[in-house]
Amino acid sequence: MTTPLDNLRGILLNQPSQQLIDRYSFTGDIHPYTVCSKQYGTFEHYGFARALPIQAWFGDVVHMTIEMLFRQVCGDIGDSEGKIQPDLLPGDKDVEFHATTAISIMKSKGINARESSHEVVINLIKKFNTTEGLNFYKRIVKSEVRLETIMEPEDKEINPYIMNGVIDVLISSTKGSLEIWDYKAMRKPAENDPKLLVLKKQMYNYVEIVQLLYPDNIISTAVLYFVNELLPDGSGKPEYRIDLTDPEISSSISEARTFANEVVKKIRDGKTTGKFPLPGKGTVDSQTCGACFLRWSCPSTDKEYTLQAP
Ligand code: SF4
Repeated sequence: MTTPLDNLRGILLNQPSQQLIDRYSFTGDIHPYTVCSKQYGTFEHYGFARALPIQAWFGDVVHMTIEMLFRQVCGDIGDSEGKIQPDLLPGDKDVEFHATTAISIMKSKGINARESSHEVVINLIKKFNTTEGLNFYKRIVKSEVRLETIMEPEDKEINPYIMNGVIDVLISSTKGSLEIWDYKAMRKPAENDPKLLVLKKQMYNYVEIVQLLYPDNIISTAVLYFVNELLPDGSGKPEYRIDLTDPEISSSISEARTFANEVVKKIRDGKTTGKFPLPGKGTVDSQTCGACFLRWSCPSTDKEYTLQAP
């Protein structure tokens, strides 16, 4: 006996990835999947609520406050006394005022950290503000630059997808070209640290999209700005600069694109099968595992975690 559905057999595509254009971001998908595919699948596919690591709270407060300081210098918002004073370097009181606002906004979303962390983050942004100075804010061409493009992988087995992301600031360089800056609320990794390699791949993936948005400008440099190097025990050298005019960079950009395509393929496989593989034992860093609620029963972590009553 045939059913009405039999007439549709073979006509409807049955792979979700063939029917939909799906969206991925480097920081929200590609990077987290690379760090731990199991954790990524648990939160992003199965939708379990993530316990926010302190690093993420820290990063959001830093990003939001620097954006407010930039807006103050532009004359879009008032200083700590509510006065509109464009083209003046914000003072420590302004930093405290905007950082406190950012902390309150995070709190209103149910995200907070200990009081002692409030002080640390405020002092860090004060240091950022005086280190970079008025010239930094004046050189910003655009902040919070939203990027979005359709990626069409050469590998025909990988369907097109949308890659999106945000560049923290675009800065005009002294030579008239543009620099892409991304703040990272972490210490600067060593040159051969795989974490640095992934962050570089993020920038390489964004370069072409930024170039499409600004066809008349040369995108000369990508700057990873490791804010935590400004902490009292930091090196005081927060910038990691990548020369994008180096002729050898195009192969790194193309490798980064292939890397992102392959990760998207793996994520799609995970979404189709519902299976996200466990990483090799001990391959995920202890900071990530320490903030993961799967750590008590995860066979991949090499540390023993003991459940404790609060
Ligand atoms: S405990 Fe570590 S290895 Fe296990 S799922 Fe969480 S992040 Fe991944």
